[in-house]
Amino acid sequence: MKNYNIVLLKGDGIGPEIIDEAVKVLNKTADKFGFTVSYEDALLGGVAIDETGVPLPDATVTACKAADAVMLGAVGGYKWDTLPGHLRPEAGLLGIRAALGLFGNLRPAQIFAPLRSASPIKNEIIGEALDIMVVRELTGGIYFGERGRKEVNGSPAAYDTEMYTVPEIERIARVAFDIAGKRRKKLCSVDKANVLESSRLWRETVLNVAKEYPEIELSHMYVDNCAMQLVRNPGQFDVIVTSNIFGDILSDEASMISGSIGMLPSASLAKSSLGLYEPIHGSAPDIAGKGIANPLATILSVAMMLRYSFGLEDAAQAIETAVNDALTVARTPDIWEESYPKVSTVEMGEIVLSKI
Ligand code: NAD
Repeated sequence: MKNYNIVLLKGDGIGPEIIDEAVKVLNKTADKFGFTVSYEDALLGGVAIDETGVPLPDATVTACKAADAVMLGAVGGYKWDTLPGHLRPEAGLLGIRAALGLFGNLRPAQIFAPLRSASPIKNEIIGEALDIMVVRELTGGIYFGERGRKEVNGSPAAYDTEMYTVPEIERIARVAFDIAGKRRKKLCSVDKANVLESSRLWRETVLNVAKEYPEIELSHMYVDNCAMQLVRNPGQFDVIVTSNIFGDILSDEASMISGSIGMLPSASLAKSSLGLYEPIHGSAPDIAGKGIANPLATILSVAMMLRYSFGLEDAAQAIETAVNDALTVARTPDIWEESYPKVSTVEMGEIVLSKI
């Protein structure tokens, strides 16, 4: 029987509470679909600072590199807010992404039917269903380009540089084409090629990679138009691929269409099948320890792990269906609506388990 080694980075705040529920769901899915999972805990974020003095201990990097996949809860909290930048919990997050070479960030924006009313977008605009995948380049572009301060005409000035190499664009484009191939076979590449030279290279390169994927319908859109189209007619999108900075903004916009931060998973992929899977929300220190955090984003991250790192599509779908079904039974406080019982983190985990 195939065994998968998973490193758990439970982190801070609600991190341990939500990861515990995700692990229960993964164990049951493994039983049902005929594979086994072994777990290793490692330290990241505030909890790592408390125990070792740094947010990303070397032992964590070593463990993650040897794993089949990594599951992360969340990091951060008031306690560590006054530390210098390089010693803050969030530095651990950026550090582990860099150490594992996680260049592709996948952020689905999906509305589960029972949660339609939570979306800030009108029902008639959402249409039948909404299921968008934003693929964001994560290790290049302006966030990593040359930057600095200087003086221009006697005034202080600052600059950041957007630069992409062809191999960087090719590898993220291939991730996006591959994902589109497993979905509705539509890919929209988002750039600002009417103004930026880096975007013109982006577009040329995506067009070249497209020759390897004749079955995928490729379109191009300027980023300003895309920001508008996401709220005007989100149903037109299947997969969106874009640069680091555009993806940062568009994935937040797209994810909010679903209406609840506690429902949104993400995946960050490396060149190998290694990936890091986490909810998009933070450590929610305001509700940590109260047992009321919504575990569904983390549980949906498990589904992404099964799909993108292990290629277990049926098992991934079983979890997504179980989450959808659980939403018809009860709600955690963040997504609670009149007529549903209000349940705790553990109770919601148990309802999902019962649906698998
Ligand atoms: P947050 O996402 O932690 O919380 C924002 C709001 O959403 C809070 O009211 C919180 O209670 C609620 N919320 C978040 N997740 C929820 C869930 N699963 N169930 C129910 N409610 C939920 O963002 P923040 O308050 O800006 O940041 C808190 C800490 O988390 C900070 O230290 C920040 O740096 C860190 N952070 C970490 C990550 C990460 O680990 N990937 C991401 C974002 C923020």
